[in-house]
Order: sequence, then C-alpha cells, then structure tokens
Amino acid sequence: MISPQLAALTSGLPGSRVVNVRNPQVDLLILGAGPSGCAAAICALQSGMTVALLETQAAPRPSPGETLHPGVEPIFRQLGVWDSIVQCHFHRHRGIWRESGGLRVFEPYGSDQHGPWLGFQVDRAQLNRILRARVADLGGSITHVAHLVGVLKNQDAVSGVRAGGQTFDARFVLDATGRHSWLADKLGLIAEKQSPTQRLRFGWSKDDLPELDAQPLFRQRKDGWHWLCPLGDGRCAWVELRHGPSSWGSEYTCRIYRDCAGPGYFLLGDAACLMDPSAANGVLRALMSGMYAMHLISVVVQRVATPLQAASGYKQWIGDWFDHASRTLRHLWAEANSTEHTFIPLTSIMQERGAYVKNHHQWRYS
Ligand SMILES: Cc1cc2nc3c(=O)[nH]c(=O)nc-3n(C[C@H](O)[C@H](O)[C@H](O)COP(=O)(O)OP(=O)(O)OC[C@H]3O[C@@H](n4cnc5c(N)ncnc54)[C@H](O)[C@@H]3O)c2cc1C
Repeated sequence: MISPQLAALTSGLPGSRVVNVRNPQVDLLILGAGPSGCAAAICALQSGMTVALLETQAAPRPSPGETLHPGVEPIFRQLGVWDSIVQCHFHRHRGIWRESGGLRVFEPYGSDQHGPWLGFQVDRAQLNRILRARVADLGGSITHVAHLVGVLKNQDAVSGVRAGGQTFDARFVLDATGRHSWLADKLGLIAEKQSPTQRLRFGWSKDDLPELDAQPLFRQRKDGWHWLCPLGDGRCAWVELRHGPSSWGSEYTCRIYRDCAGPGYFLLGDAACLMDPSAANGVLRALMSGMYAMHLISVVVQRVATPLQAASGYKQWIGDWFDHASRTLRHLWAEANSTEHTFIPLTSIMQERGAYVKNHHQWRYS
C-alpha cells in the first residue's frame, strides 16, 4: 500500500514529472540493500512511507571498504544504529599515515575538547547486517531476488521493475545496486569517466605491523597507491591500485552518471558515482546519498519542491562531491609525479565532506 502522504501526491503540479502509476504497491522501490539502499529505506520508514527492498545476496558477504571517517558518527546516530555499532567494538583510528617519495607523515583527523576524532575500521558484512536489521525493526522487509529482469515505465517515468516473475510498482525507484548501476544501465544513461584507466586488487592479510601503531597507511606511488589498514584483530586489509591498462587486477575507473536523478528515479551511492577508494568516503557518501534522496522525495511529497527541482538538486549535490574529489585526486597524482613533496592532506578529501555532514544536518534540521 502506498502511504497517505504519497497518495495525496497527484499529477498535474506545475513542473511536475510525477505521474499516476497503475496502483503502485509501495511509495519506494529500492534496488540493493547495501549502505545506500538501507539508509534510504530507514529514512523512508522513519517518515511513514512504504518501502520494498530487492536484493540479490541472501546474506551480506565480506567486502572491502572498512575505513570510515569520524564524520559518519552523526549519520549512524540519525539512522538509529549507533548503539549496535558501539556494541561491535570496531577498531577506531586517529588518522592516516601518508607515505610518498620515501617520507612518511601522520595526518590526524583532528580533535576537540572531548579528545581526538576517531574513524572506524568496520567489518562491512557486519555493518550491512546492522543496517538490514534496522530496516526490519522499522517494519521493512528485504525480498531476495535472483536477478532483476526489466524496468517498468509509465510514460517517461520509471515506475517499477520486473523480477522473479513478479512486477514491483512504486512511486519512486532508487537504484542502490552499487558499481553495477543496474538501472542506469537499463535506462541507457551515459557514464562520464573522470580518471585514466585504473585497476585494483584487494584482500586481507595476517601482517602484524607494529610501526603503524594500528593506524592505516596510504603509500603513494607514481603508478598508483597501496593502502594498508590494521583492523585491530591481527589482520590487515590491503588495497592496491595501479594506473594504466593491463591484465592486472580488476578495472575500477572513476565515473559519474550526471543524470543520476530523473523522472521517477534516483541513483544512490556507487550507482551514481564511483570514486577512487583512496578517498575512503564511499560508505559515508552511500549513506548520505540515500538519506539526501529521501529528504528530497519528502520535500516533493510536501509540495515544497517539484520533482524536477528535487532531481536537479540531487544531481548538483552528487556532481559537486564527485568534482571536488576528482580535483583533489588530480593534485595528489601531480604531486606524486613531481620531485617536491608538499603533501596535500589526504584527509582533506574526507574532512571537507565531514564538514559537509555537519552542514547537511544543520541545514536539514534548522
Ligand atoms: C577495494 C575497495 C576498497 C574500498 N575501501 C573503502 C573504504 O576504506 N572506505 C569507504 O568508505 N569506502 C571504501 N570503498 C568504497 C565502498 O565500498 C563503496 O563506496 C560502498 O560500498 C558503496 O555502497 P553502495 O550501497 O552504493 O553499494 P554496495 O555496497 O556495492 O551495495 C550494493 C548492494 O546491491 C546489491 N545488488 C547488486 N546488484 C543488484 C541487483 N541487480 N539487484 C538487487 N540487488 C543488487 C548488492 O548485493 C549489494 O548488497 C572501497 C571500495 C573498494 C572496491
């Protein structure tokens, strides 16, 4: 059933692209139950909307992406998962070692009167379980599907998908399928590539690296970088990225879908844009994109903005974030290939976004 708020939303608003779909089953259909999909689902359920979440993985699997900036803390609180996160006793770190041209410096995140700001080394499968449990606590359910088959449209607006012999209709469809960008692919959206071809490998090792004092190390090289991250349990997560085409590792080129929102749809997290993992803000960005898309949808429902305005605000927000990270990373590579080592702070990529978290919240709740 669609919620009363959305039932009240009819077509015919000036500038509106929302159309009356055939008996939509729910307000929101979310494809993918990773960080971005779960964050959107939690916000929607918290605001009384009805949600269907479709996911291809029956249970969360181990995946990379453990380092989270301290700015994620207010996000966890807002999503109502902070207590569960604390109970996991994830390893916390104060900042990041940065190594370039044989020099190694430590870049702390910062501090205030309560002490140093601490990032997290989360177990990603565990984080996904926590987020999914929160969806369930709020009355949402996740439907396991083998694969998605096709997109449903009503006039030019996305209005659902077909999967497992069923149709799922909704007022809005949110693509949270990660780097696969299922909906973008099906809609034929054009991805804008912003980095040279780059490839990466990742894994976990049993390295004990006492010299790192349990803090992550980012080692910059002329042809890429190496990331070593003590997880606090005797293991180290590692990621290695190299520029240039080769048969080494898997392809991971930064790209953005500038049309990451449109009639009836939003692309969230990695589905909207894929950034160099050295920014270490993919999870934060994924969570925030789900929350921000939901905020814009509720603004549309309240008729404070038209769907067109909401889509354009979302595209601008994702685009600004992506362009900022791309610019900073370009400086980083220029620096790696020069003989001078001025050390653009790596954490600046994350810290500016950390500030954005606070601005975002002040703006949203003022
Ligand atoms: C090697 C590596 C290291 C990284 N390190 C970090 C890090 O240290 N810190 C950080 O913040 N980020 C890191 N990232 C980035 C981070 O992992 C991603 O940005 C983040 O997971 C994106 O979240 P998401 O919800 O958009 O997508 P995902 O986490 O990819 O979730 C997508 C979900 O959709 C599901 N799905 C996929 N296809 C379909 C389909 N067709 N139908 C239904 N469901 C589907 C998947 O099963 C999954 O559950 C790293 C990435 C890589 C590759």
